Amino acid sequence: MERVKQVNFRELDKEIKKFWENNRIYEKVKEKNKENKEFYFVDGPPYCSGAIHLGTAWNKIIKDTYLRFKRMQGFNVLDKAGWDMHGLPIEVKVEQEFGIKSKKEIEKIGVDKFIEKCKEFALKHKEIMENQFKNLGVWLDWDNAYMPITKEYMEIGWWTLKRAHEKGLLVKDLRVVYWCPRCETALAEHEVRGEYKEVYDPSVYVKFKLKEENAYLIIWTTTPWTLMANLAVTVHPDYVYVYVDVGGETWIVAEKLLEDVLKKAKVESYKIIKKVKGRELEGLKYEPPLLEENEKLRELHNLENVHTVILGEHVTLESGTGLVHTAPGHGEEDYEVAKKYNIPIYSPIDDQGKYTEGKWKGWFVKDADNEIIETLRNKGLLVHAGRIKHSYPHCWRCKTPLLFRATEQWFLKISEIKENIIDQAKTVEWIPEWVEQRYINGVKYVGDWNISRQRYWGIPLPIWVCEKCKKYVVIGSVEELKERMINNIELDDLHKPTVDKVILRCECGGEMRRVPDVLDVWFDSGLAPYASIGSKTLKKADFITEGHDQVTKWFYSQHALSAIVFNDIPYKKCLMHGFTLDEHGEKMSKSLGNIVNPDDVVEKYGADILRFYLLSANKVWEDLKFVWSEVEDVLSLFNTLWNAYMFSVNYMVLDNFKPNEEYFKHLKDEDKWIISRVNSLAKKAIESLEIPHFHTYTWAIKDFILNDLSRWYIRLIRERTWKEKEDIDKLSAYQTLYYVLLKLCKIIAPVAPHIGEAIYQNLKTEDMEESIFMYSIDVDEHFINEELEKEMEIVRDIVDSIYRGRDRIKYSLRYPLKEIIIAGGEEVKRAVEKYGYIIKEQGNIKEIKFGEVEGKYIVKPNYRELGKRYKSEVPKVVEALMKVDGKELMEKLKESSVIIDGYEIKPEYVSIKVEIPDNIAGVEFSKGTVFINTEIDEELLKEGLMREVIRRIQAMRKELDLDIEERIKFKIEGLEFEDKYTKIIEKEVRGELSDIESSDYSKDWEIKTPTGEKYKIRIHIKRI
Ligand SMILES: [Zn+2]
Ligand SMILES: [Zn+2]
Repeated sequence: MERVKQVNFRELDKEIKKFWENNRIYEKVKEKNKENKEFYFVDGPPYCSGAIHLGTAWNKIIKDTYLRFKRMQGFNVLDKAGWDMHGLPIEVKVEQEFGIKSKKEIEKIGVDKFIEKCKEFALKHKEIMENQFKNLGVWLDWDNAYMPITKEYMEIGWWTLKRAHEKGLLVKDLRVVYWCPRCETALAEHEVRGEYKEVYDPSVYVKFKLKEENAYLIIWTTTPWTLMANLAVTVHPDYVYVYVDVGGETWIVAEKLLEDVLKKAKVESYKIIKKVKGRELEGLKYEPPLLEENEKLRELHNLENVHTVILGEHVTLESGTGLVHTAPGHGEEDYEVAKKYNIPIYSPIDDQGKYTEGKWKGWFVKDADNEIIETLRNKGLLVHAGRIKHSYPHCWRCKTPLLFRATEQWFLKISEIKENIIDQAKTVEWIPEWVEQRYINGVKYVGDWNISRQRYWGIPLPIWVCEKCKKYVVIGSVEELKERMINNIELDDLHKPTVDKVILRCECGGEMRRVPDVLDVWFDSGLAPYASIGSKTLKKADFITEGHDQVTKWFYSQHALSAIVFNDIPYKKCLMHGFTLDEHGEKMSKSLGNIVNPDDVVEKYGADILRFYLLSANKVWEDLKFVWSEVEDVLSLFNTLWNAYMFSVNYMVLDNFKPNEEYFKHLKDEDKWIISRVNSLAKKAIESLEIPHFHTYTWAIKDFILNDLSRWYIRLIRERTWKEKEDIDKLSAYQTLYYVLLKLCKIIAPVAPHIGEAIYQNLKTEDMEESIFMYSIDVDEHFINEELEKEMEIVRDIVDSIYRGRDRIKYSLRYPLKEIIIAGGEEVKRAVEKYGYIIKEQGNIKEIKFGEVEGKYIVKPNYRELGKRYKSEVPKVVEALMKVDGKELMEKLKESSVIIDGYEIKPEYVSIKVEIPDNIAGVEFSKGTVFINTEIDEELLKEGLMREVIRRIQAMRKELDLDIEERIKFKIEGLEFEDKYTKIIEKEVRGELSDIESSDYSKDWEIKTPTGEKYKIRIHIKRI
């Protein structure tokens, strides 16, 4: 053991990291557990597109704390770090680096160059982020991290798709998908969840003229541009629709929405002509409003069912007109209903969202909205044009509003295995439990998974299509590809454009070329459970954890793939955590300028302070509001711990203490108590971490450090540390502190690894392990004494109430109290009997009695009430009342009314006040009352003054910066003490009273006693 100095936790971090690195501690801990039971953890891969933020820091701290605990428990933890590296986010960044904005420009630069840059970008940021994570003290297998851009990983992606294909779960289909016109690619449904934003769009009511009758169908749309692709109007077969006469024109609208529509159209008078059921409208042919503007529509107009009223159950009466404008190429439900009626799927727009035909050919569709509205107005077909604020999906990467567009894409048919997925989800231990339902609800509403992206930086789809017969094959490995390849392409890397060059031979003799698409990046991370360890069998993860956005994303994507390939869920325990917000509960964002950078927090306070803060601020599944002052509180908590540790070790060093279990034989009650407490804490820590419930773990640590160790135990033993070197009382206190600190640093090590290790390194003896992480948190059950803990709780409670009472009556702790009387039940009595000496010491009390304080019961007649009943007899009644015993009367009135001298006395006739004597102050505690006797005599006063003087000399010693053992001479002017007091002063201040001529330090003081007297004194100190 060495002397301990004040600490800078940031500097401590660095020292400990160096120690871990130089001595390969992480590797040694792994080596030690190598043969033990495996614990498989799969790291949800953070995306390598920039620096980490507070949320990612929190995520890794949760993981690290849990895994450190598991390693300490002796598990052989498989803990590869993982990275997400493909996909649009990096493509977008690289486009920015090149200063380009479209896919065409990428082709111009060269796909190979583009891919190379994407790779560079990913690797560079991986390194930046890795260092940031290490800075937080995160131990993971960084050197063997899994990266989805390696050939091996990508090959398992191919293998997975081939399995899906063999099971008939991979299909190509024309469907309406979310489409980003900027990124020029389809997006999957799960990518869009949580990406809805409130935006303003046109809200347009339009008249569609019927062919056979002189009437109009009224439709409503927020995407006027899709009118260019209108092929039908859908109504609900069971709803009632009305024909209304509006100023000579006949409109057809759902009855329930009529008022609403007419209000919008500012129509004041109208007449209902007739009512029909929706099914009666089926087959009515109409003329679409933009027939002249789009030649293709004129062509389609002649087909059966096109531009007619059709029936659909999806029509609602929530808004609009009850007649739904149907563009099968631009709406999912439109697409479904059109298929039933054999209406073609028509979409006149290209990948960039521009019209490919019609009057506005080459225009971005949204830009045409206003022109279209004007055209409708000119044609007299516009009922109303306004604006609407609604929630609309955006690209998660570039924030562009998405379009719905029918395209040919590759899908995984999740719909066919959905029931299995839901059943499998029920086998998982979800934390908190309600995540299970949230997850299952998400799965219920999910459609088939669109896995193809019309982009570059991703795992290429391993699908080759014959140019001649259109047959396709799905390739499952590089080996297989090499066997079938007819040109000789070097396949060191499986990215585009290399694989695009590979040509295969079809059975028909034709040449097969690869589908140009790449895979959805969520497919990459979905492979992690098995691809991260290069396995083609399922090893279920013992634990995964991510934020709540991942419930429908990564929790799902990895399950979907494992369900396809292995018909199982790939994890056993899943913890969901929250998001980090600013102190007002706002999302952190650049534009709000409220971002908290984890590096800054670490730089200021040290990693462990941030770690403990993030795991104690709330339950991890709730969103965390980051409050700087709360981080300060954690700093102060650890300073308290450090002070307790410094106090203990510095005394031990001073006395050259060697820990020895022999001293356990001489423990005092308070020693046994703190030893019991620290073992109870260890038990609680294990239980909490096992789940894991980090809040109960950290809260228990906090309570122990502040209340048990610092505010109580160390206070109780302070005097014992001043005893002679070989005093057994002192040595057993040291032994206790040593034991407690050693155990405590194991308990805190998972969450505060640097501080835990630092304390351990100083406490450890030669025969002990090299690092704290080679130990487990262990519980010495035989030291736990619940009764003692309970009783000590009462004692502490009583002492606290004495402090509160002293505060109230301004009676400083330095002045002894003559006596206190404690009132309470049996358990209080027992505790006071056993540990009264602690109350005496801590409360500075001469005498403790157990019992009640007899107060005076004063009966006050209530003249008003008495007057009502007894009128002129009141004086007689009062006279009678004054004679009775107040206490007895109060007891009796609790039951019922009482007869006194023949008069019935009801409770409301009197009020009874209890007055305790003037010299007694009563203070409540949780299980009773403490009555403080405030009488003070000359003796007590003198003793108090002695304490006042001692405190002031100590303060002056401190100001002189004297060492603990350095001796002094001192002189006091203005107060004199008898010998017995002088001796105590001399002992406590390590000095001798002497008539010194000159001093190193002199100071004037004023002392005010509880009785109000004032003493002006002067103290002189001289070093010896
Ligand atoms: Zn986009
Ligand atoms: Zn062929």
